[in-house]
Amino acid sequence: MKKFLIVIITVLGILIPLTLSIYFAFIPNLELKGSKNQKVVLNNEYKELGASAENLFGKDNYKIEVQGKVDTNKVGTYKIKYTYKDGLIKKSVVRNVKVIDEESPIITLEGGEEVFVCPNTEYEELGYNATDNYDGDITDKVKITKTDSLIKYTVKDTSSNTTTIERNLKYEDKESPIITLSGNESISLPLGQAYKEPGYSAIDNCDGDLNKEVKVTNNIDVNKVGNYEIKYTVIDKSGNETSITRTVKVYNNKVQIKQGIYKSSMIYLTFDDGPSASITPKVLDILKETGVKATFFVTCKSDSLNYLIKRAHDEGHTIALHTCSHNYSQIYKSETAFFDDLYTISNKVKSITGVESKITRFPGGSSNTVSRQYNSGIMSRLVSQMNEKGFTYFDWNVGSGDAGGASNKNDVYNNVIKGISPTKTNVVLMHDFENNYKTLNALKDIITTCKNAGYTFAAIDSNTPQIAHGVNN
Ligand code: ZN
Repeated sequence: MKKFLIVIITVLGILIPLTLSIYFAFIPNLELKGSKNQKVVLNNEYKELGASAENLFGKDNYKIEVQGKVDTNKVGTYKIKYTYKDGLIKKSVVRNVKVIDEESPIITLEGGEEVFVCPNTEYEELGYNATDNYDGDITDKVKITKTDSLIKYTVKDTSSNTTTIERNLKYEDKESPIITLSGNESISLPLGQAYKEPGYSAIDNCDGDLNKEVKVTNNIDVNKVGNYEIKYTVIDKSGNETSITRTVKVYNNKVQIKQGIYKSSMIYLTFDDGPSASITPKVLDILKETGVKATFFVTCKSDSLNYLIKRAHDEGHTIALHTCSHNYSQIYKSETAFFDDLYTISNKVKSITGVESKITRFPGGSSNTVSRQYNSGIMSRLVSQMNEKGFTYFDWNVGSGDAGGASNKNDVYNNVIKGISPTKTNVVLMHDFENNYKTLNALKDIITTCKNAGYTFAAIDSNTPQIAHGVNN
């Protein structure tokens, strides 16, 4: 009996653990793939690694349910639960996923990290702002600590990422004063007229109003034609200096005669307002036949007449500029309008002849008063700018009257013959506008008479003494 019990116990002692072992060998073990505690950086992807269930025999086709979600756009700790169920058996494991913000806030300083402060003044905060990738605008969380020469700006985001930046203060005035001129930077002054200072002001970032410290120097001689400079200089208390200039142009408002060789018994025939289809070709024929060179002050006409400008140029005449539009109200309204118009005809002539003409004539002449109704004083300014831009303008001292008083070819002939003189440089004003037959028909006689009297004809060039009227506006 005793022996029997020992056998039973022994058998059970072997069977029970064996049964249990076999039983447990069939229950799968649930294990996480990857670590139990995972970190994901904000806005990065969370990769679900899953879990595996396996029994001792490697059976692993258990269905595992995954519960929980990770919001990677939001800082926090998320729990993911993995469960498998098989009949009565149920097992779970949990993974902790932490979404973390590792980015520090950014502080921006208005005015930069180095600031110059006027000596003996207090620094006034120039402003700053702080932004964080997660918290957004956290400017109001910035803490400031300040010494005389250093300001520290510190800010911490909700994940305790901290940023500190510094601003250095330098007590120095680095900025120069600013001088502002009243009136124009360039002033044209008629010969002999006193210069009147239009005024100026000076201001400094640290010293304020420095008007009284401005030193003005000039070497203007109002009795001598020329360009003069007025210099305005001011120095602030820290030694920063500013200097600016104003130009004063003293010009001769009576007569502007270019210095040149005096040429007596010379006649310069000039034809304005062309070319025209009816007159210009025939004028060119007569000039060719008589061997006379002349000057054509052309305006903008139809491109179909360009060949006449080309022909006149090729035959040795001077092509000069009389503005494109010849429209008083347009060209005399401003200096800009005038030169825009002049450069238009200049470019046109250059494109036809290949030569840039520098010889000009004002519509109505430099003495015209018609310009007054469009812009007071414009002729004085145009005359000086014409010279500055390298042009030489020519008026005339012999009128043919062909655009006004002369009613026939005899009038034109008589006006010219009476006007010319052997003791001056004769510049004769005529026109080759459309249908001006009275000039065309007088031309040959004028040339013959003058040649017989010993005159020489020439086209205006850069050596021709300038004939200019006085300016009346
Ligand atoms: Zn004209």
